[in-house]
Amino acid sequence: MPRRPAAALATSGEVLRLIRAGEAVTRADIGRVTGLSRPAVSLRVTELLDHGLVVEDSEGPSTGGRPPTRLVFNAAGGVVLVASLGASRAQIAVCDLAGKRLDGVSLAVDVEEGPDTVLPLVMDTWAELLGDRPLSQVRGVGLGVPATVEFAAGRTESARIMANWTGVAIPPIIAERFPVPVFLDNDVNVIAIGEHRAAYAGDADDLLFIKVSTRIGAGVIAGGEILRGALGAAGEIGHIPVRDGGGVLCRCGNVDCVDSVASGTAILRDLRDRGYQVASLTDVVGLVRAGDAETMAVVRNAARMLGEVVATAVNLLNPAVVVLGGDVAEAFQPLVSGVREVVHRRSTALSTRNLRIERSRLGPGAGIVGCAHMVLDHILSPEAVDAAL
Ligand SMILES: [Zn+2]
Repeated sequence: MPRRPAAALATSGEVLRLIRAGEAVTRADIGRVTGLSRPAVSLRVTELLDHGLVVEDSEGPSTGGRPPTRLVFNAAGGVVLVASLGASRAQIAVCDLAGKRLDGVSLAVDVEEGPDTVLPLVMDTWAELLGDRPLSQVRGVGLGVPATVEFAAGRTESARIMANWTGVAIPPIIAERFPVPVFLDNDVNVIAIGEHRAAYAGDADDLLFIKVSTRIGAGVIAGGEILRGALGAAGEIGHIPVRDGGGVLCRCGNVDCVDSVASGTAILRDLRDRGYQVASLTDVVGLVRAGDAETMAVVRNAARMLGEVVATAVNLLNPAVVVLGGDVAEAFQPLVSGVREVVHRRSTALSTRNLRIERSRLGPGAGIVGCAHMVLDHILSPEAVDAAL
């Protein structure tokens, strides 16, 4: 075998990646996969052991003779602090390095009170949740917010909600108290990451997540990675117009955006226009369960229009799976079946040949899981691990 040039030698970060992926879990395997010499493997493994990122598993299978020591990624070697902010509630949690929630709370938080009020509250809650764990255990912070985010800058864009957060760079504020890498993204991207890593990893690396709630948004996973676009605005499907929407003026100023005709807000409005006294989606769920014909017609109409937009996205992206989440999609099976029907009729044959259209598997916990994985993807990447060691 030709010697690999020195520049191509696997680093400690790459060795960690192999161990995490289960591609090489003994020193001999690592040597074989990377071509590193025994001393070089030993040096890298020792570094990872010293930093608590890897542990030796003594409980190897005893099939006669002494088995080689297995190396295992140490999910308990640190924690990440995460918060998924909604318009009126925040889920705040501490997760381990595998993205598992260790502790968490759900609080009533009015995001419109602005960053000066909300961020200290979130940080105080993290401090409480950390309890006796030393601050040095904290390896990263992740937040999901209900607004468009300029990802690299960690700040929200001008929007109807969270208007008083506009332009505020959030990572430096958090890093003052928790001096670790801080990542911020919009809530839909975060959930898409959570669904992919926790429910579809190794199964579907091209995934389109659609959140149908008071608003409609999408998160795109392409080739296993979130697609953010040039500045972070990818996936804003809510303002794609539909045909035959009825001329509804959208809050963005255009007419018949899918957000204005098929969101939870639109379903409630359409039912009220028909004389129904529905206060919330819970009331609509009751009507759907009871099989109320007019309610079903409104939900099916929303499904038809949402399906049109999803069909266009499917043609453009050719995902393996479309995941429909958010409280509206989770509550209304007829919406999911309606979207499925339209997409199969209107998308190209090849793009729908193996396409699955499913409801969210993670449900309301997806935001927290996604925030944790957004952070872990960065801090456990080979480059970040090498920089930290
Ligand atoms: Zn619009």
